Amino acid sequence: MFQQVDFSALNLPPSARALQLEVREFLRAEMAAGTFEVHLGHTEFNAELSRKIGARGWIGMTWPKRYGGQERSYLDRFVMTEEMLAVAAPCAAHWFGDRQTGPSLLRYGSEAQRGRYLPAIARGEYAFALGMSEPNAGSDLAAVKTRAARVDGGWKLNGQKVWTSWGHKADAFFVLCRTAPDSGNRHDGLSQLIVELKQPGVTVRPIHFMDGGHHFNEIFFDDVFVPDDRVVGEIGQGWRQITSELALERSGPERYMTTFPLFVELLRRLGASPDARATEMIGRLTAGLWSLRRMSLAIAMTLDPGPGAESGTPKASVDLATEAALVKDLGTFYEREIIDAARLLGEVEPQHNATDLFERFLTESIVAAPVSTLRGGTTQVLRSLIARRLLGPLK
Ligand SMILES: Cc1cc2nc3c(=O)[nH]c(=O)nc-3n(C[C@H](O)[C@H](O)[C@H](O)COP(=O)(O)OP(=O)(O)OC[C@H]3O[C@@H](n4cnc5c(N)ncnc54)[C@H](O)[C@@H]3O)c2cc1C
Repeated sequence: MFQQVDFSALNLPPSARALQLEVREFLRAEMAAGTFEVHLGHTEFNAELSRKIGARGWIGMTWPKRYGGQERSYLDRFVMTEEMLAVAAPCAAHWFGDRQTGPSLLRYGSEAQRGRYLPAIARGEYAFALGMSEPNAGSDLAAVKTRAARVDGGWKLNGQKVWTSWGHKADAFFVLCRTAPDSGNRHDGLSQLIVELKQPGVTVRPIHFMDGGHHFNEIFFDDVFVPDDRVVGEIGQGWRQITSELALERSGPERYMTTFPLFVELLRRLGASPDARATEMIGRLTAGLWSLRRMSLAIAMTLDPGPGAESGTPKASVDLATEAALVKDLGTFYEREIIDAARLLGEVEPQHNATDLFERFLTESIVAAPVSTLRGGTTQVLRSLIARRLLGPLK
């Protein structure tokens, strides 16, 4: 039996359109004031901008008010994210908390954890990173070797994480680790712990990107004590908890809009009368963007728990992992189509120190191009997931 996929269409209601214009105006003013500069490739960590966005109520927008949220819709959150991406505004200081950690705490965290972390995330004052990957556990995440042993009042953590984006600036991260030996089912015995990054026994080392930039880290744990009240959800249920986060990570506009500002600069460069070849490419890219946007928006709308929902988390009963994987797979290839079109039509040599905006965006996009089909699930792994879900297991 084939599974259906659902990307139903919709238009923005007036309230979302008003928010769109408000966010757009805010970002324009902050850029003019010099709060941030547009850079493509990796979203930057800008604590000042995140605090200002938090003060506007645009972080944790869907969360309950008692945890610092606004009880707004997923559509509003989509609109806000889209505007940030349209100008490549730096989001790393609030991104992971807003998209993944916050919703996980709402669903699985204790009342004390929610009270301690959620309002601070929503104010843009507390940054989370993600501690999943290890040297031998990326796509095969259940192979994690970082382990926590039971001690009086908590857990003693030893091991290593890698590729931790902005781990050198974040305050804390969720660490996926093994709390019980592998008993045959590798998904059992995994747990999520909150590790605050300044605590004793945690060492953060940079991994420099090929242009010299520092986004990634490897993080080592040497007998790190994690008290019981930093266990997220239930011990042994880490796998189930983390897989629900991944659908959130894969379906948003950040999966097809990271090269959008390059597309805008390309249009500016081509001017009002592009030739036939350019017109055809622009048409194709515009249609691609429109389709991906509808798909991503449909997922945001389907996950929306509806007005006044107490939980502020996505509808638990809906499984859109296949749809999310489709958006990420198609979206990351779409981002590269923009780079290819810019290379073909822009007729410039990419240069690292270019002063022209189009040239700089093109260079930054080319340097960062390999990352999008890796982070958040590689192309091959996503396609396996899609094939298994849509076609069923191989006989
Ligand atoms: C920009 C960026 C930011 C990141 N940030 C973080 C972060 O903050 N926190 C974090 O924990 N991780 C982070 N990661 C790590 C990311 O999640 C992993 O890179 C990703 O899961 C792939 O794992 P890997 O690098 O170990 O590659 P591998 O899993 O070793 O894959 C190598 C190649 O083998 C292929 N492959 C693997 N398994 C299969 C299979 N079963 N079938 C077919 N092909 C397969 C893959 O598709 C890939 O092409 C980040 C990565 C990037 C690029």
